Amino acid sequence: MSIFLGLGAMGSALAGAVRPAVVWNRDPRRARPFSEHAAVAGTVEKAIIADGPIIVCLFDHHSVHQVLDPVAADLTGRTVINLTTTTPDESRELAAWADGHGIAFLDGAILAVPEMIGKPGAAIFYSGSESVFTEHRDLLDRWGESTFFGADAGLASLYDMAMLTGMYTMFAGFMHGAAMLAAEGVPATEFAQRQAPFLAAMTGGLLEYAATIDSGDYAGPGQQSLRFTDAALSALLRATTGQGVSTEVLRPVHDLVRRQIDAGHGDLGTARIFEELRSTR
Ligand code: NDP
Repeated sequence: MSIFLGLGAMGSALAGAVRPAVVWNRDPRRARPFSEHAAVAGTVEKAIIADGPIIVCLFDHHSVHQVLDPVAADLTGRTVINLTTTTPDESRELAAWADGHGIAFLDGAILAVPEMIGKPGAAIFYSGSESVFTEHRDLLDRWGESTFFGADAGLASLYDMAMLTGMYTMFAGFMHGAAMLAAEGVPATEFAQRQAPFLAAMTGGLLEYAATIDSGDYAGPGQQSLRFTDAALSALLRATTGQGVSTEVLRPVHDLVRRQIDAGHGDLGTARIFEELRSTR
């Protein structure tokens, strides 16, 4: 039996892929669709009476504590799998909290939208207790491809947040381009149909950048220099301003490049941006 705490959009997708299950949600109306194929518990206390792993998918770190703190004493010896999005430090805090109560804890980060759960393309990253990951692998694999990153409970979240940073900045870049074309009456849908395959093709360059970063050799052959990128970004900024569009997405990227040129690195490869970004550590 698996126990699900939280039946929002994601919690419902996770619970919907598992039988048998006990489900609980703060607002009981969200549990109604489960009444035929799951045991609906009216309280957290009643939900956790059942044996089996407790899968938590709530809004945020704070809500996880709000739900679990009052029943902490009853969770000793149990297994909690947290699929709520939390930052790495929040995941580590939850792991330490669980450890303090004798709870086996696995943290998960979902790289999928609810509609993808249980279908190809869904991935969930895990870290924390490896024995929980191994013991419940069949359950985890029902939701998507499961990958374990290590005993540090913050690692799954860290990978997730690194992945999402790429996604959100890409989306912002798309909005920027759509705004440039909108000034000429081009619908965003038309732009998206051209932008999507172009971006997909460009992601092939990530591995080349990665090889450069890992080698630390920004002077090697075949790299696009910071000076070249500066010229390209300057043109993009002029075109952006010409279309009456805000430069607030693009300008920080240009500033990064400019700072490195000003520091004397203009002939090095553009991947050197990595060094500038991590230098704030
Ligand atoms: P929803 O907003 O649909 O659901 C939030 C859930 O949290 C509801 O069950 C809500 O209960 C519950 N909740 C919020 N605050 C409290 C509280 N203080 N006490 C008890 N229950 C609380 O969000 P999702 O289901 O979409 O997301 C859940 C988690 O999954 C989030 O951390 C999200 O980042 C993550 N996730 C979601 C993805 C998505 O595409 N949706 C993708 C990847 C991760 P109630 O119904 O009573 O309000």
